[in-house]
Amino acid sequence: MTNSKTRLQSVMNFINLAEQQANRPQGSVQLLAVSKTWPASRLRELAEVGQTRFGENYLQEALEKIDALADLPLEWHFIGPVQSNKTREIADKFDWVESIDRVKIAQRLSAQRPVDKAPLNICLQVNIDDESSKAGVHPDNLMELAAAVSQLENLRLRGLMVIPAIAETTEQQLDAFGRAQQLFSQLKTVHPEVDTLSMGMSADMQAAIAQGSTQVRIGTALFGERHTPNKK
Ligand SMILES: *Cc1c(COP(=O)(O)O)cnc(C)c1O
Repeated sequence: MTNSKTRLQSVMNFINLAEQQANRPQGSVQLLAVSKTWPASRLRELAEVGQTRFGENYLQEALEKIDALADLPLEWHFIGPVQSNKTREIADKFDWVESIDRVKIAQRLSAQRPVDKAPLNICLQVNIDDESSKAGVHPDNLMELAAAVSQLENLRLRGLMVIPAIAETTEQQLDAFGRAQQLFSQLKTVHPEVDTLSMGMSADMQAAIAQGSTQVRIGTALFGERHTPNKK
Protein backbone atom coordinates (compact mmCIF):
# COMPACT_ATOMS: atom_id res chain seq x y z
CA MET A 1 0.00 0.00 0.00
CA THR A 2 2.74 2.43 1.00
CA ASN A 3 4.57 1.37 -2.11
CA SER A 4 1.52 2.05 -4.30
CA LYS A 5 1.10 5.44 -2.70
CA THR A 6 4.75 6.35 -3.24
CA ARG A 7 4.67 5.28 -6.88
CA LEU A 8 1.45 7.15 -7.56
CA GLN A 9 2.84 10.29 -5.92
CA SER A 10 6.04 10.13 -7.88
CA VAL A 11 4.21 9.70 -11.19
CA MET A 12 1.87 12.59 -10.30
CA ASN A 13 4.88 14.75 -9.41
CA PHE A 14 6.50 13.89 -12.71
CA ILE A 15 3.33 14.83 -14.59
CA ASN A 16 2.96 18.11 -12.68
CA LEU A 17 6.56 19.04 -13.40
CA ALA A 18 6.16 18.25 -17.10
CA GLU A 19 3.00 20.39 -17.18
CA GLN A 20 4.93 23.29 -15.64
CA GLN A 21 7.83 22.91 -18.04
CA ALA A 22 5.37 22.99 -20.94
CA ASN A 23 3.59 26.05 -19.49
CA ARG A 24 0.42 24.06 -19.19
CA PRO A 25 -2.08 24.38 -16.35
CA GLN A 26 -1.74 21.95 -13.47
CA GLY A 27 -4.24 19.14 -13.87
CA SER A 28 -4.46 19.40 -17.65
CA VAL A 29 -3.00 15.90 -18.06
CA GLN A 30 -4.94 12.95 -16.69
CA LEU A 31 -3.36 9.72 -15.54
CA LEU A 32 -4.66 6.43 -16.90
CA ALA A 33 -3.22 3.55 -14.87
CA VAL A 34 -2.47 0.72 -17.33
CA SER A 35 -3.04 -2.39 -15.26
CA LYS A 36 -2.67 -5.29 -17.71
CA THR A 37 -1.13 -8.40 -16.12
CA TRP A 38 -1.56 -7.02 -12.56
CA PRO A 39 -4.02 -8.60 -10.11
CA ALA A 40 -7.10 -6.78 -8.85
CA SER A 41 -5.46 -6.42 -5.43
CA ARG A 42 -2.81 -4.10 -6.88
CA LEU A 43 -5.45 -1.97 -8.60
CA ARG A 44 -7.39 -1.76 -5.35
CA GLU A 45 -4.31 -0.43 -3.57
CA LEU A 46 -3.94 2.31 -6.15
CA ALA A 47 -7.66 3.08 -6.02
CA GLU A 48 -7.44 3.45 -2.26
CA VAL A 49 -4.83 6.16 -2.64
CA GLY A 50 -6.88 8.07 -5.20
CA GLN A 51 -6.44 6.56 -8.68
CA THR A 52 -9.78 6.19 -10.49
CA ARG A 53 -8.97 5.54 -14.18
CA PHE A 54 -7.69 2.14 -15.27
CA GLY A 55 -6.73 0.88 -18.73
CA GLU A 56 -6.85 -2.77 -19.77
CA ASN A 57 -5.73 -4.52 -22.99
CA TYR A 58 -7.18 -8.01 -22.69
CA LEU A 59 -10.90 -8.54 -22.25
CA GLN A 60 -10.97 -11.76 -20.24
CA GLU A 61 -8.44 -10.49 -17.75
CA ALA A 62 -10.21 -7.15 -17.52
CA LEU A 63 -13.64 -8.64 -16.86
CA GLU A 64 -12.37 -10.45 -13.77
CA LYS A 65 -10.92 -7.26 -12.35
CA ILE A 66 -13.97 -5.15 -13.18
CA ASP A 67 -16.02 -7.71 -11.31
CA ALA A 68 -13.66 -7.92 -8.35
CA LEU A 69 -13.56 -4.12 -8.00
CA ALA A 70 -17.24 -3.43 -8.65
CA ASP A 71 -17.58 -1.87 -5.18
CA LEU A 72 -15.28 1.02 -6.22
CA PRO A 73 -16.26 3.99 -8.44
CA LEU A 74 -13.69 3.31 -11.15
CA GLU A 75 -13.56 4.35 -14.81
CA TRP A 76 -12.50 1.57 -17.21
CA HIS A 77 -10.73 2.22 -20.52
CA PHE A 78 -10.24 -0.52 -23.11
CA ILE A 79 -6.92 0.13 -24.87
CA GLY A 80 -6.16 -3.15 -26.67
CA PRO A 81 -7.18 -4.49 -30.08
CA VAL A 82 -10.95 -5.00 -30.30
CA GLN A 83 -12.11 -8.22 -31.97
CA SER A 84 -15.62 -8.19 -33.34
CA ASN A 85 -16.70 -11.16 -31.22
CA LYS A 86 -15.75 -9.21 -28.08
CA THR A 87 -17.66 -6.01 -28.72
CA ARG A 88 -20.76 -6.92 -26.73
CA GLU A 89 -18.93 -7.33 -23.44
CA ILE A 90 -16.73 -4.32 -24.08
CA ALA A 91 -19.78 -2.17 -24.83
CA ASP A 92 -21.38 -3.39 -21.63
CA LYS A 93 -18.49 -3.18 -19.17
CA PHE A 94 -16.26 -0.29 -20.22
CA ASP A 95 -16.61 3.51 -20.07
CA TRP A 96 -14.09 4.23 -22.81
CA VAL A 97 -12.60 2.44 -25.82
CA GLU A 98 -9.40 4.12 -27.02
CA SER A 99 -8.39 1.69 -29.75
CA ILE A 100 -10.97 2.19 -32.50
CA ASP A 101 -9.53 2.07 -36.00
CA ARG A 102 -12.43 0.59 -38.02
CA VAL A 103 -15.96 1.81 -38.49
CA LYS A 104 -17.34 -1.71 -38.36
CA ILE A 105 -16.19 -2.18 -34.76
CA ALA A 106 -17.55 1.23 -33.82
CA GLN A 107 -20.94 0.34 -35.31
CA ARG A 108 -21.09 -2.86 -33.30
CA LEU A 109 -20.17 -1.06 -30.07
CA SER A 110 -22.84 1.56 -30.67
CA ALA A 111 -25.49 -1.06 -31.44
CA GLN A 112 -24.54 -3.09 -28.36
CA ARG A 113 -24.13 -0.29 -25.83
CA PRO A 114 -26.85 -0.81 -23.19
CA VAL A 115 -29.45 1.95 -23.48
CA ASP A 116 -29.45 2.65 -19.75
CA LYS A 117 -25.78 3.62 -19.85
CA ALA A 118 -24.14 6.88 -20.92
CA PRO A 119 -22.70 6.85 -24.44
CA LEU A 120 -19.42 4.96 -24.73
CA ASN A 121 -16.47 7.37 -24.96
CA ILE A 122 -14.31 6.75 -28.01
CA CYS A 123 -10.76 7.63 -29.03
CA LEU A 124 -9.61 6.79 -32.52
CA GLN A 125 -6.25 5.06 -32.59
CA VAL A 126 -3.94 6.59 -35.18
CA ASN A 127 -0.98 4.72 -36.63
CA ILE A 128 1.11 7.86 -36.44
CA ASP A 129 4.33 6.33 -37.82
CA ASP A 130 2.55 4.20 -40.43
CA GLU A 131 4.04 0.98 -39.05
CA SER A 132 2.80 -2.18 -40.73
CA SER A 133 2.94 -4.09 -37.44
CA LYS A 134 0.75 -1.64 -35.60
CA ALA A 135 -2.97 -1.08 -35.25
CA GLY A 136 -4.50 2.30 -35.93
CA VAL A 137 -6.07 4.23 -38.75
CA HIS A 138 -3.68 5.79 -41.27
CA PRO A 139 -3.50 9.57 -40.70
CA ASP A 140 -4.90 10.16 -44.23
CA ASN A 141 -8.05 8.22 -43.35
CA LEU A 142 -8.63 9.73 -39.92
CA MET A 143 -11.17 12.39 -40.85
CA GLU A 144 -13.34 9.93 -42.72
CA LEU A 145 -13.40 7.53 -39.77
CA ALA A 146 -14.12 10.41 -37.37
CA ALA A 147 -17.06 11.54 -39.50
CA ALA A 148 -18.55 8.04 -39.42
CA VAL A 149 -17.99 7.48 -35.70
CA SER A 150 -19.40 10.86 -34.73
CA GLN A 151 -22.72 9.85 -36.32
CA LEU A 152 -23.16 6.76 -34.16
CA GLU A 153 -25.86 7.22 -31.59
CA ASN A 154 -24.47 5.47 -28.53
CA LEU A 155 -20.87 6.57 -28.92
CA ARG A 156 -19.24 9.85 -28.03
CA LEU A 157 -16.16 10.82 -30.00
CA ARG A 158 -13.61 12.15 -27.51
CA GLY A 159 -10.31 12.27 -29.42
CA LEU A 160 -7.23 10.34 -30.46
CA MET A 161 -4.91 7.70 -29.06
CA VAL A 162 -1.42 7.16 -30.45
CA ILE A 163 1.46 4.75 -29.81
CA PRO A 164 4.46 6.02 -31.79
CA ALA A 165 7.28 3.83 -33.04
CA ILE A 166 10.00 3.20 -30.45
CA ALA A 167 12.13 6.33 -30.53
CA GLU A 168 15.84 6.53 -29.86
CA THR A 169 15.96 10.22 -29.05
CA THR A 170 13.82 12.84 -27.39
CA GLU A 171 13.71 14.69 -30.73
CA GLN A 172 12.10 11.65 -32.36
CA GLN A 173 9.56 11.43 -29.54
CA LEU A 174 8.75 15.12 -29.88
CA ASP A 175 8.40 14.79 -33.63
CA ALA A 176 5.89 11.93 -33.51
CA PHE A 177 3.85 13.50 -30.72
CA GLY A 178 3.94 16.83 -32.55
CA ARG A 179 2.40 15.21 -35.63
CA ALA A 180 -0.28 13.68 -33.41
CA GLN A 181 -1.02 17.09 -31.94
CA GLN A 182 -1.46 18.55 -35.43
CA LEU A 183 -3.92 15.82 -36.33
CA PHE A 184 -5.76 16.47 -33.09
CA SER A 185 -6.05 20.20 -33.95
CA GLN A 186 -7.40 19.32 -37.38
CA LEU A 187 -9.92 16.96 -35.82
CA LYS A 188 -11.00 19.71 -33.44
CA THR A 189 -11.77 22.14 -36.24
CA VAL A 190 -14.41 19.71 -37.55
CA HIS A 191 -15.43 18.13 -34.21
CA PRO A 192 -15.03 20.90 -31.62
CA GLU A 193 -16.28 18.63 -28.86
CA VAL A 194 -13.16 16.41 -28.84
CA ASP A 195 -11.04 16.92 -25.74
CA THR A 196 -8.75 13.91 -25.38
CA LEU A 197 -5.31 13.36 -26.83
CA SER A 198 -4.16 10.08 -25.28
CA MET A 199 -0.41 9.77 -25.69
CA GLY A 200 2.64 9.12 -23.57
CA MET A 201 3.69 5.97 -21.70
CA SER A 202 6.24 5.41 -18.92
CA ALA A 203 9.25 6.03 -21.17
CA ASP A 204 8.04 9.05 -23.12
CA MET A 205 5.42 10.88 -21.07
CA GLN A 206 7.48 14.04 -20.74
CA ALA A 207 7.71 14.53 -24.52
CA ALA A 208 4.02 13.68 -24.90
CA ILE A 209 3.02 16.30 -22.33
CA ALA A 210 5.27 18.87 -24.03
CA GLN A 211 3.27 18.23 -27.22
CA GLY A 212 -0.18 18.57 -25.73
CA SER A 213 -1.12 15.15 -24.38
CA THR A 214 -4.23 15.31 -22.18
CA GLN A 215 -3.93 11.73 -20.96
CA VAL A 216 -0.85 9.64 -20.33
CA ARG A 217 -1.22 5.86 -20.14
CA ILE A 218 1.19 4.58 -17.52
CA GLY A 219 1.89 0.97 -16.58
CA THR A 220 5.49 0.25 -15.62
CA ALA A 221 6.14 3.47 -13.67
CA LEU A 222 3.09 2.77 -11.50
CA PHE A 223 3.14 -1.00 -11.07
CA GLY A 224 6.73 -2.05 -11.84
CA GLU A 225 8.06 -4.23 -14.66
CA ARG A 226 5.62 -6.72 -16.16
CA HIS A 227 6.96 -10.27 -16.00
CA THR A 228 4.36 -12.18 -17.95
CA PRO A 229 4.86 -13.28 -21.56
CA ASN A 230 2.09 -11.03 -22.89
CA LYS A 231 4.16 -7.97 -22.24
CA LYS A 232 2.48 -5.50 -24.56
C1 LIG B 1 1.04 -1.42 -21.98
C2 LIG B 1 0.52 -0.15 -22.57
C3 LIG B 1 0.81 1.10 -21.99
C4 LIG B 1 1.70 1.30 -20.77
O1 LIG B 1 3.04 1.10 -21.06
P1 LIG B 1 4.20 1.34 -19.98
O2 LIG B 1 5.41 1.46 -20.80
O3 LIG B 1 4.21 0.14 -19.08
O4 LIG B 1 3.87 2.58 -19.22
C5 LIG B 1 0.23 2.22 -22.57
N1 LIG B 1 -0.59 2.13 -23.64
C6 LIG B 1 -0.88 0.96 -24.21
C7 LIG B 1 -1.78 0.94 -25.41
C8 LIG B 1 -0.34 -0.22 -23.71
O5 LIG B 1 -0.62 -1.39 -24.31
